[in-house]
Amino acid sequence: MKYTVIGTGFSGLSTAAYLAKEGHEVHVFEKNDTIGGRARQFKDKGYTFDMGPSWYWMPDVFDKFFKDFDKNPKDYYDLIELNPGFQIIFPEAHTLKLSSNWNEVLALFESYEPGSSKKLLSFMEEAEFKYNFGINKLVYEPGVSLKEVCTSEIISNVFRLQIFKSYRKHVAKYFKNPFLIALLEFPVLFLGTAPAKTPAMYSLMAYSGIKQGTFYPMGGFAKVIDGMAQICKDLGVKFHLNSEIKEIVVENKKVVSIKTDSKEYKVDSLICSADYHHIDKEILPAHLSNYSEKYWDKRVLSPSCLIFYVGVNKKIDKLEHHNLFFDEDIDVHTNEIYSTKQWPKKPLFYACCPSKTDPSVAPEDKENLFFLIPIAPGMEDTDAIRKTYFSKIIKRMERYCGQEIEKYIEYNRSYCINDFIKDYNSYKGNAYGLANTLSQTANLKPKIVNKHIDNLFYAGQLTVPGPGVPPSIISGNVVANYVMNQRSK
Ligand SMILES: Cc1cc2nc3c(=O)[nH]c(=O)nc-3n(C[C@H](O)[C@H](O)[C@H](O)COP(=O)(O)OP(=O)(O)OC[C@H]3O[C@@H](n4cnc5c(N)ncnc54)[C@H](O)[C@@H]3O)c2cc1C
Repeated sequence: MKYTVIGTGFSGLSTAAYLAKEGHEVHVFEKNDTIGGRARQFKDKGYTFDMGPSWYWMPDVFDKFFKDFDKNPKDYYDLIELNPGFQIIFPEAHTLKLSSNWNEVLALFESYEPGSSKKLLSFMEEAEFKYNFGINKLVYEPGVSLKEVCTSEIISNVFRLQIFKSYRKHVAKYFKNPFLIALLEFPVLFLGTAPAKTPAMYSLMAYSGIKQGTFYPMGGFAKVIDGMAQICKDLGVKFHLNSEIKEIVVENKKVVSIKTDSKEYKVDSLICSADYHHIDKEILPAHLSNYSEKYWDKRVLSPSCLIFYVGVNKKIDKLEHHNLFFDEDIDVHTNEIYSTKQWPKKPLFYACCPSKTDPSVAPEDKENLFFLIPIAPGMEDTDAIRKTYFSKIIKRMERYCGQEIEKYIEYNRSYCINDFIKDYNSYKGNAYGLANTLSQTANLKPKIVNKHIDNLFYAGQLTVPGPGVPPSIISGNVVANYVMNQRSK
């Protein structure tokens, strides 16, 4: 059987690998000249920058992917656990470092709020249950039938999973100290929405980030992409780079071919792992798309972001590998992303310094920095705005580090909404897809099947199970299984 996949991000590679494993012929089309989608890497002036993901959480999902192909992550990259996993910088330079040693985490909690270590144990026990339940019973479901979520096991655990309670209230039930609350609320920001709007079920993210630990693949996230691409190639997957699909030709409810500007390729079955909205509204004719423009406009997207890839000609002492600058009011910034949708006045930002761990990403005695400011999708994006924000955050970092940094910068590339749209056909320039709010979870996400076309399917961060690298890998697995089952019926 022949399958065609659009997109070489984590979900496209995962889909292709699982299809090829069953002996199928698989062709993957990618508009860019490199594999990896939002997780691509680039090298310039001696620096190596991961363009997107930098937090390696839920390591068991990566392990499972490689194991399904009789491999191990070690066959492709060295994975190390970071210690501290990350640090959070609060106002007045108050800094909280999260140790990789669980007993030290318990002691840290106790030092902020007497009695909280016991509470953390019970918080994490619940979170671990949700993580295991989620990974084993929920995230590998295709989200096409209500039967999937109406099993007696799910119904009997619905209160334990705390689907209907807000994560913010859940955390507040256990902890009072604002620093501990900020630490526990941070992991759900990965789900693309505010803690108050996130179901308490997602304390599973805190379990992953705080209890399981934060890892780093030496050489960068692109090593994971390289490993997955190698598995595909070893299984005979054919990659067609620089091949942007401009048209999907449909006859009698079936995709028969896809077209680039210069070529047409016959198709038996098509899986689109490019941004869902792009395929649905920009490529398919209106009468064959799954959802209206109004539907898309009402979706809560995860934030977009303003990114700076920076090379500094000196070492910076006070930074760790992952640094969260929460030195301004988090609720004000969250509100500017999700409610008022404006450029943040006093942004929180994230600074990643992988050269603290990995000498291969920067020349000797220099530092590789990745800055990220989360912003609302669809914002105006100009060079002048980017510059203003760079000077805001670099000054704050200099103040915290007590070192001059700006004048030692020898490389600086910015990346924002216009680049997401140009490079990935991203809807409103979103970075991480669709937020995991309650009304956008599981069966309520855009469906993996096209309702008008029998052989067209969707994978990736805008469908089940959601945004992030592990969910995108799972998405590819889910869709590959689904299309193969459909074929065999
Ligand atoms: C800045 C940033 C930081 C992030 N940080 C983290 C993190 O720390 N940890 C984490 O787990 N996740 C993180 N994420 C999220 C994670 O990277 C994504 O959820 C995941 O990579 C999405 O994979 P995907 O396959 O769904 O989409 P993509 O990676 O976007 O892949 C889709 C592919 O389709 C291609 N395409 C689009 N249109 C066409 C067309 N018409 N024809 C051919 N090809 C087309 C695109 O070029 C792209 O290569 C981050 C994302 C970003 C952007």
